[in-house]
Amino acid sequence: MEYVITIVFGLVIGSFLNVCIYRIPQGGSITKPSRSYCPHCNHTLSAWDNIPVFSYLFLRGKCRYCKGKISPRYIIVELLTACIFALILYRTLNLYKTNSDIALNLLRGCIFAGFLIVISFIDFQFMDIYNIVVYPGLAVGFLFTLFETILKRDKSIIISNVLGAGAGAVIILLIAILGTYAFKKEAMGMGDVSLMAMIGMFVGLWPNIILTLILGAFIGSIVGIILMILKRKKSDSQIPFGPFLSIGGLITMLYGKEIWAWYHHLMGL
Ligand SMILES: [Zn+2]
Repeated sequence: MEYVITIVFGLVIGSFLNVCIYRIPQGGSITKPSRSYCPHCNHTLSAWDNIPVFSYLFLRGKCRYCKGKISPRYIIVELLTACIFALILYRTLNLYKTNSDIALNLLRGCIFAGFLIVISFIDFQFMDIYNIVVYPGLAVGFLFTLFETILKRDKSIIISNVLGAGAGAVIILLIAILGTYAFKKEAMGMGDVSLMAMIGMFVGLWPNIILTLILGAFIGSIVGIILMILKRKKSDSQIPFGPFLSIGGLITMLYGKEIWAWYHHLMGL
């Protein structure tokens, strides 16, 4: 039953994230107008046109009023959000025993994932990371850190997360500077620096921040190679790095301990 609630909740939140992904790059307000509208004919959508997933399928991806095509991104974001929320629930139930720990980490994880989804989809589409999204994410991450530190009377939590944020930012900054120096072009933007600070605030310092980078670089390279083979991208064209850092951060939050243990085992340590 908790999975059904989480999935429905994920679909609804995914629908809200779509609004953010659409409106933030346009500099528009998220809350005004409060009702969604069709980007082609500007017709305000009724509640029936706005049910996650079902409206899209029922209307066959077209606006009811002007028959303009609705981007499949809407249904992808809704389903992805629901799947990630369900996975976070699954892992939280596995990792934590007390109800307060489960509730706190479930909420924290879902909020983290929500920010990553908005940042990644905007970065993927516009090759740009918006600090107007990243800074609130960083602030929320810090509030959770503060709350958990006070709740558990454990200073190591705030130390690890704040240092994680700082280290994340510094590492990306160094890579950006070295990359610009070595390749004479901007390999990573300042947006990646603040994004990595936000991820660090959620996953903590050692070894998670390093694991996030390794996973991000690894998955990014594989996707890059596949795109080159498919000749979708030329070798010198840019791939946004934000989505891969985000995937790395999410995997680290969910499976960091297991992956690190496996890596040590593999290295014979
Ligand atoms: Zn329309």
